[in-house]
Amino acid sequence: MPSKPRDGNSLTMSATATAQRVFNFSAGPAAMPLSVLQQLQEEMLCLPGAGCSLMEMSHRDQAFVDILHDAENSIRSLLNISDDYAVLFLQGGATLQFSMIPANLIRGTEKTAQYLVTGSWGKKAIGEAKKEGNAEVIYDAKESNYNHVPAADDFQVRDDAGYLYYCSNETIQGVQFQSEPECPAGVPLVCDASSDFLSRPLDVNKYGVLYACAQKNAGPAGVTVVIIRRDLVDSAKTELPGYLNYKNHAEADSEWNTPPTFAIYALGKVARWLSNDIGGLDAMAKLNEQKSQLLYDVIDSHNEFYQGHAVDCCRSKMNVTFNLPSDELLKKFVSEAKTHDLANLKGHRSVGGIRASVYNAMPIEGAETLAKFMIDFAKKNG
Ligand SMILES: *Cc1c(COP(=O)(O)O)cnc(C)c1O
Repeated sequence: MPSKPRDGNSLTMSATATAQRVFNFSAGPAAMPLSVLQQLQEEMLCLPGAGCSLMEMSHRDQAFVDILHDAENSIRSLLNISDDYAVLFLQGGATLQFSMIPANLIRGTEKTAQYLVTGSWGKKAIGEAKKEGNAEVIYDAKESNYNHVPAADDFQVRDDAGYLYYCSNETIQGVQFQSEPECPAGVPLVCDASSDFLSRPLDVNKYGVLYACAQKNAGPAGVTVVIIRRDLVDSAKTELPGYLNYKNHAEADSEWNTPPTFAIYALGKVARWLSNDIGGLDAMAKLNEQKSQLLYDVIDSHNEFYQGHAVDCCRSKMNVTFNLPSDELLKKFVSEAKTHDLANLKGHRSVGGIRASVYNAMPIEGAETLAKFMIDFAKKNG
């Protein structure tokens, strides 16, 4: 694509900025693929052919409508989503879905929604659901400080439940379901996949609703992807504020009001990166497996020094959580890591310790560098 000559200054500046980038283990908003950031930079001042930046364009402009459809189609093709499902781009983060799901699916009915609580986000979700209708916890991993997910016979779902809710990857504790919990036919399965969305293949047909905010694994903050079976789109039994009704968004193709245009545009680029550069979700899952395993191997081979939080069967491939022998060593670990360009490793205050988030955009070199640092640190301080 021909481009006008740019002034040398901005080129030098962008090379300097790129060189300053660290391995960013932030839990969210989190690292994005460098090539996506470069494309966004490239098109920031003027979207090719549009005469202005995407940020300056009407959401009704055909150029943006095409971008929105392209983002939707990329997600549909990555996850093999059938026409039985609507794919919506909403605002309000994953947090608004804590309310929208029960408001649409159980409010004004006699039905009870059932929740598996395996960490902080599931706990928040049921808190909001109770404001909308009948919701109950049928499994809570609190007693073990949320270090695992339930086995199939650890809980019983009612055949007439409003839906079964779970969080596939608890971002704070670093525990992940390796596959969907069992759910009776006829009960919609609802999943908060915010922190492992597009990290591995999954069968969307098993779900009633699958949703994810973008800022962990799929793009910048500001947009939440909601994949919802079409027969559930229209299920609200009471009058809801217009924004909260899925039907309005589905009928208007996510343009019921102004959608977060820039976030959708960036998310679309991340989805394209996944198919074109990575080679799809199978390939991505293998890389994610490798990255997290590099870190778990160090934890296991130095288990007198590092204490992993999650039990083996439930370890997250996205957020690796572990502790050190003392607070002093923890502080030292975080600050020495920084000098090796390993940033944002401090765990969430509710769990403590270290949390290394190795989402899709974390290159394997990042995990390798951290693993090597961990071995050296244990040797020197153990
Ligand atoms: C980050 C996160 C949330 C909260 O997302 P917001 O966009 O801040 O509302 C909810 N669930 C999970 C699993 C998360 O990782």
